[in-house]
Amino acid sequence: MAIAEIITVGDELLSGETVDTNASYLDGELERLGFEVRRHTTVPDEVELIAEVFRAASERADLILCSGGLGPTEDDLTMLALATAMGCVLTRHEPTIVAIRERFARFGREMTPNNERQAMVPERGEVLENKAGTAPAFRAELGRAVIYLLPGVPREVRYLVQKVIGPRIDRGAPVLYRRTVKVVGLGESRLEHEIQAVVDAYRDRVRFGYRALSIENHIKLAVRGEGAFELIEEVSSALRAKLGDAIFGTDADELLSVVHRRLVASGRTVTTAESCTGGLVAKMLTELPGASSFFVGGVVAYANRAKTTLLDVPSALIESEGAVSEAVARAMAEGARRRFAVDVALSATGIAGPDGGSEEKPVGTVFIALADDKETVCVRLQLPGDRSTIRSNTALALLDLLRRRLG
Ligand code: AMP
Ligand code: MG
Repeated sequence: MAIAEIITVGDELLSGETVDTNASYLDGELERLGFEVRRHTTVPDEVELIAEVFRAASERADLILCSGGLGPTEDDLTMLALATAMGCVLTRHEPTIVAIRERFARFGREMTPNNERQAMVPERGEVLENKAGTAPAFRAELGRAVIYLLPGVPREVRYLVQKVIGPRIDRGAPVLYRRTVKVVGLGESRLEHEIQAVVDAYRDRVRFGYRALSIENHIKLAVRGEGAFELIEEVSSALRAKLGDAIFGTDADELLSVVHRRLVASGRTVTTAESCTGGLVAKMLTELPGASSFFVGGVVAYANRAKTTLLDVPSALIESEGAVSEAVARAMAEGARRRFAVDVALSATGIAGPDGGSEEKPVGTVFIALADDKETVCVRLQLPGDRSTIRSNTALALLDLLRRRLG
């Protein structure tokens, strides 16, 4: 596949002032156009440094896209840097002067002399009109590469790539099909281990990527060309065979909406008994419209007194096992299920920190339980992160327990 590199120029990109959104935009476009982006380089507005990365990239890449430094001010040096790398000089490009003058006239402004700097371009190469701004883009050949210089303004970059450069560099690569398979409740390394055989079997034809997101892991599949859709279907089935109901959906599916859908379909009623999550689970369950068809109500039982009086958790149990324990999580769920007379009750009790941990039950120790007409199941979690992460991941884990139970 043709190799591309992206170079972004500007002091502001290296000082924390501006996030380099051009590079990620260009990544996406180049992939679509059939290039493999192998490197990003960001350099300050310094001629020698820019020229140096141009030369280096031109030995590795077939295509270089560079953004930034084409403005009218003194710190806009990218054209000069390209001329330096090419070993030529800058010349005045008359049609550009005319175009800039007309553009200013259209906006009722007068052109200042420094705007003429934007018409100074390397003597070898091609000026590309930029209808979205004043600075033109430029195309030249350097080493093994074709290089395009673009202004820094993101809107202009988008215009030029979509209207001017894209059509010229399009490799006619077959459409890229993607699918994200979403998994919950497996650690990243465990997940990789489980699907290793599938990855090995398909890695020549399918690109695999991974992304971790709260308690979710996303497996990204990308396939190009004939039969891509069928191949993605095949890989998805192979992943399902390995991971079973650890997979909760694909692409736009979200854990919450999947649980919501299943709850509505099941016709079952739900209640919550929450300690460390302080009502987060109830909040999530009621987030989407239609929650009244399954959610009856819930209890935030934070202090021991609330657990005993509102959920009938025996105080002796709290004393002997501790408020954060499997026995108490079970008793909370069972108590809530009786009190609310529902089909399913969910409970959570844990140590969200930063204080309150012990050697036996460090911060992040959480017990979640689900009680229904058949049994009560309880899971002990050891969650990493700060208080807020522990709380939200506890709520998500509880939703997932419910999802799996609903089948
Ligand atoms: P320039 O063409 O270098 O004068 O850039 C004009 C403006 O575009 C800058 O002041 C930034 O606000 C913005 N800009 C430049 N480069 C980038 C980039 N890589 N990503 C996002 N914005 C940028
Ligand atoms: Mg700049």
